[in-house]
Amino acid sequence: MTLLAIDNLTVRYGRLTALRGISLKIAEGEILFVTGPNGAGKSTLLNAIAGVVPPISGSITMDGAEVTGAPPESIARRRFSLVPEGRNVFGALSIEENLKVGAGMRTDRQKVADDLKTVYREFPMLAERRHAPAGMLSGGQQQMLVIGRALMTSPRLMAIDEPSLGLAPMIIDQVYEILERLRAQRKLTLLIVEQSSTRAMMTGGRMILMRGGRIVLEGEAGDMVKDERLKQAYFGFG
Ligand code: ATP
Repeated sequence: MTLLAIDNLTVRYGRLTALRGISLKIAEGEILFVTGPNGAGKSTLLNAIAGVVPPISGSITMDGAEVTGAPPESIARRRFSLVPEGRNVFGALSIEENLKVGAGMRTDRQKVADDLKTVYREFPMLAERRHAPAGMLSGGQQQMLVIGRALMTSPRLMAIDEPSLGLAPMIIDQVYEILERLRAQRKLTLLIVEQSSTRAMMTGGRMILMRGGRIVLEGEAGDMVKDERLKQAYFGFG
């Protein structure tokens, strides 16, 4: 089942065109990596899907319903959760308070309590420090917290902008293991921006490569690594 469909999406910031006619589909339970050099439009794509930046043309459909131009709250209500780049924790609030912020829009209390248990099970480090201020966590721990907070919204689709940025390889492996497990267990759909394609190749799944606001290459991550065109598309040779 197609969870998200984007057709011919164009986004501008004033005179700068950041997305030029992007089309893609994501099936439920799928993992799609978005990769590409600086300024390719990767973050803009996530922000457009989340309703943070309005497109000037094209369409976005979630679960068959057209949501183009809808505000972020209405996208969030469809259980789409965006984890933006940079770890925006509420430093003065405790870890548990940060997690509860994620569940702020929910009324299914029992399920919220269950989800909190799941987050603590997946990230035991958060459970151990649940009453400590989030500002005291290291970069890797804050990344886990923002992912945990996004999980507290009970998302069907989670879009994460550069989860690996600045993290030690071991922590990155841990984060991906958890995401993969949640995808398998809950049919969580993942849309992940990573500037480097290495992680996509290690994890598997589908990958799109963007450059200059366009999708220039698309396929199974494992196949793309063997494709000489990847290098050419990434660096713009040929
Ligand atoms: P990076 O990895 O550097 O974040 P990216 O692929 O995510 O790159 P975007 O951040 O989406 O790319 O940027 C696409 C283009 O839009 C760039 O030229 C960028 O300078 C520009 N841009 C991004 N956000 C804004 C904004 N809020 N206002 C104006 N221009 C912007």
